[in-house]
Amino acid sequence: AAKSQGCQLWEIYQPEMGQVSQERAKMERELRKALAEGVLQLHFQPQVFSHASHAPAQLYGVEALSRWHHPEWGWVAPPRFIAVAEDAGLIHQLTTWLINAACAQLAAWRTQGLRIPHIAVNLSTNNFHDPAFALHVQATLHQHGLGCQDLMLEITESVMLDSSPATLDNLKALNEMGIRLSMDDFGTGYSSLSYLHRLPISELKLDKSFVQDVCTSAAASALTRSVLNIAQSLGMTVVAEGVETLAQAQWLSEQGCPILQGYHFAKPMPGREIAQWMQKQAITQPA
Ligand code: C2E
Ligand code: MG
Ligand code: MG
Ligand code: MG
Repeated sequence: AAKSQGCQLWEIYQPEMGQVSQERAKMERELRKALAEGVLQLHFQPQVFSHASHAPAQLYGVEALSRWHHPEWGWVAPPRFIAVAEDAGLIHQLTTWLINAACAQLAAWRTQGLRIPHIAVNLSTNNFHDPAFALHVQATLHQHGLGCQDLMLEITESVMLDSSPATLDNLKALNEMGIRLSMDDFGTGYSSLSYLHRLPISELKLDKSFVQDVCTSAAASALTRSVLNIAQSLGMTVVAEGVETLAQAQWLSEQGCPILQGYHFAKPMPGREIAQWMQKQAITQPA
């Protein structure tokens, strides 16, 4: 009885912050273990050129997305474990694994004869604080027999607003190597357009919060048209993310959005399923 009472008291007086940080600490330990054991996986989501309805679908690239299946918790949402990795100083290790695994998969697809133009990976702001980051990326590409055009690095606006010397040096080095940068979730961040012409961005990813409203909201469709105009005048390409319906895909195509990505085309899938998905696409596309 004394013991259970003690337990109750412990529960009552445990401050909420303490519980949160205990959960964090546990997730950090488990993530560290998962990285050491190599149990993280990648799923891949196709990105297709928007096209006239009579033309066959053409693949622009694929985005690699990290997946963690924990034996007790099941699938852990990427934004959760990515945040833990960032706080715990594990993001360098995670990104090293990510880029290596993505390059290995692209090389394997090409060996199978699959024509995948490039692979995109998501980066954290912290990755740019490693002075050797750009060199690591280049070395990994070389190791897998790939070139600089084979990898697209997705960054967020916070990288652009970070003026630390390491970040600026890495951005400059990547640009000189010819490794392309994509601005993910465009429109949700600080929305400061001024960095767009100062820094070498090749691609804007229109955030899914706009894409999902383009057919129903005048504001979302006006913003989308503006982003398409800005990108065109700056020589950048645009990927609409989170395209879920045929109506959204058609509206975006009509507005001249060059590339589409979302559940309407395919959900992220294991690497071995990509070949089958590509075959099926070709078959279901009228000639
Ligand atoms: P993101 O890079 O913007 O990726 C798009 C997210 O939207 C992915 O969620 C994807 O599965 C989901 N998505 C794709 N199509 C649709 C759609 O049609 N509708 C809806 N509702 N969602 C769609 P996911 O895989 O859960 O990843 C969430 C975020 O976590 C990513 O957003 C990215 O910021 C981050 N993330 C994922 N993997 C990594 C990684 O390896 N490294 C880093 N640093 N971040 C990662
Ligand atoms: Mg992304
Ligand atoms: Mg995004
Ligand atoms: Mg995102």
